[in-house]
Amino acid sequence: MDTRAGRLWVVATPIGNLGDLSPRAREVLAQVALVAAEDTRHSAPLLAQCGVQAPLWALHEHNEQAQAARIVARLRAGEDVALISDAGTPLVSDPGYRLVRAAREAGCEVSPVPGPCAAIAALSVAGIASDRFVFEGFLPARAAARRERLQALAGETRTLIVYESSHRIVEALADACAVLGGGREAALARELTKRFETVIAAPLDQIHARVLADSDQQRGEFVLVVAGADGGDEAALLAEGRRVFALLREELPPARAARLAAAISGAPRKALYAG
Ligand code: SAM
Repeated sequence: MDTRAGRLWVVATPIGNLGDLSPRAREVLAQVALVAAEDTRHSAPLLAQCGVQAPLWALHEHNEQAQAARIVARLRAGEDVALISDAGTPLVSDPGYRLVRAAREAGCEVSPVPGPCAAIAALSVAGIASDRFVFEGFLPARAAARRERLQALAGETRTLIVYESSHRIVEALADACAVLGGGREAALARELTKRFETVIAAPLDQIHARVLADSDQQRGEFVLVVAGADGGDEAALLAEGRRVFALLREELPPARAARLAAAISGAPRKALYAG
């Protein structure tokens, strides 16, 4: 006899304040046969607090493929499974998409239990145009790769959202100023929903100066929201000019690269290269 397949519930958990766990998330976590968690030790206290008895299985980026197959077997046997991550919404800069795909391919229903997400929480308090935005996850850890990524984003007209860790926040802000222009409106959201929550909404160079001057502001978890490039705006022209200059500079002498970059982007040549 065929058993009805179980459902995979993708459950958002708090990003700091336990009060943000929704009643529906509690209900689902309490009724599933198994919880797949990014870090079982990290999630155990939250689940204990919800009275969850179900076994906890680790599902992280290094075991997702193999673990997905085992979890799908349980779903096919008719058991409901919840997927959670360390914080916020699973799959948002977190593992899980392979499991979701495998469950769906196996004919199982997949349902979200929506809730906190640091990127959306930051956007909601940034005071920056929010009708169109791009989420870039974490910027690369290495300086050269980070600047290259920022350069590729310099002409982006939609609001930009990135995650950053305390180890790199100062460097990332410095690079954002250098590549996107210090005058760009931005908001740095730190430790959202937690005791030391801070949101600094100001041009990038001011945010950088404040964080640099205060080591307390360098601690914790961060989301940086940056206004998109304004098509007719001088800062955007300059950012685009710098991006083109950096690309051409890899192949050409600086003066020639600057001349061409200025012609292509419309940015003043002197602002790109003062040689
Ligand atoms: N899945 C999570 C979500 O929905 O936001 C994100 C996971 S990602 C691995 C962790 C990053 O999210 C942190 O390094 C930080 O950039 C951001 N983050 C998470 N919680 C935060 C908070 N309370 N305040 C600010 N940023 C936070």
